[in-house]
Amino acid sequence: MILRKSLVAAALATAIITAPIAAALTSPAAFAEQQQAKGTVYILATGGTIAGAAKSATQTTGYKAGALGVQTLIDAVPRMKDYAKIEGEQIANIGSQDMTTDIWLKLAKRINELLKRDDVTGVVITHGTDTLEETAYFLNLVVKSDKPVVMVGAMRPATAISADGPMNLLDAVRVATDPESKGRGVLVALNDTINAARANTKTNTASLQTFSSPEVGAVGMITGGKVRYYRQVEREHTTKTPFDVSKLDKLPRVDIIYTHVSDDGVMADAAVAAGAKGIVSAGSGMGSIHKDTYPALEKAIAKGVVVVRSNRTGSGFVDAAQQWKDCVTADNLNPQKARILLQLALTQTSDPKKIQEMFDKY
Ligand code: GLU
Repeated sequence: MILRKSLVAAALATAIITAPIAAALTSPAAFAEQQQAKGTVYILATGGTIAGAAKSATQTTGYKAGALGVQTLIDAVPRMKDYAKIEGEQIANIGSQDMTTDIWLKLAKRINELLKRDDVTGVVITHGTDTLEETAYFLNLVVKSDKPVVMVGAMRPATAISADGPMNLLDAVRVATDPESKGRGVLVALNDTINAARANTKTNTASLQTFSSPEVGAVGMITGGKVRYYRQVEREHTTKTPFDVSKLDKLPRVDIIYTHVSDDGVMADAAVAAGAKGIVSAGSGMGSIHKDTYPALEKAIAKGVVVVRSNRTGSGFVDAAQQWKDCVTADNLNPQKARILLQLALTQTSDPKKIQEMFDKY
């Protein structure tokens, strides 16, 4: 505990020493005016390793995620003030493996409220990396603004030697305040790389370079403190989707069924019994389903459950060639993202044809 306190104190002391010289030389009134001209970035904190604390500076596994509050994260990176007035809010403080729909809805509603304000330039969300890609895609479908929404995390806890959180956070603010970031949907900024929400996925349990976009690649980089974009985001998002969280206080149940050798219908039957309105099949190869699983899925479809075929390979598409019964095919959405789109689609319709159109668009 004493060590943890001293590590945080050391981080804060370093932060104070590296505070921007320009700010130190400017009068408080002039500095406040400059900040106002720059606009405000809200940092909405949800926990994760970026707010994690370990017993020692060399410990990078087995630490407590979501241990530090948002103000501690902000105080550790004073250079963020070079880009915007920084405000922090604690939405949750959890390891993101425990993320819930309730937190998602609270987060999305707050983002939509904040981005309506003229003085707010953008929003940065600190988040555990485990389910960061899911929150990013959910927000990508429900945020109603073109202003930047940037998700950030870290792979090393805040107490570690060479913690990656502070630089990632500064980079996220750089992305959130860059005019070029507008209209690209939700972005994920970690380890110098900017990925778009739909394609982005966690690819490694421990490496700093864990996020990537298999097949389509990153959209940009942050190098030398500069945000650089190299391609557009083609699929529709944010203001161009019909999904409206302002009227939602829950999402329909959708379960993912991960296929394997000797799979059968037990999991599909259990999902339907638990009240699932949708099932995402994480099929093998191009979305293949075991012959012994089909009968249970067929029963589910007959009951009005919407089945989406995705795949467990980590990349690649499942398309109309895999059409079976009234199934929907997931294109190149991974199962956890197909689940989110299906949940939101089911808030509008349970017609598989209309849901397929959404999968072809978003
Ligand atoms: N399991 C924790 C979480 O997702 C730590 C992972 C991380 O933040 O990188 O919050």
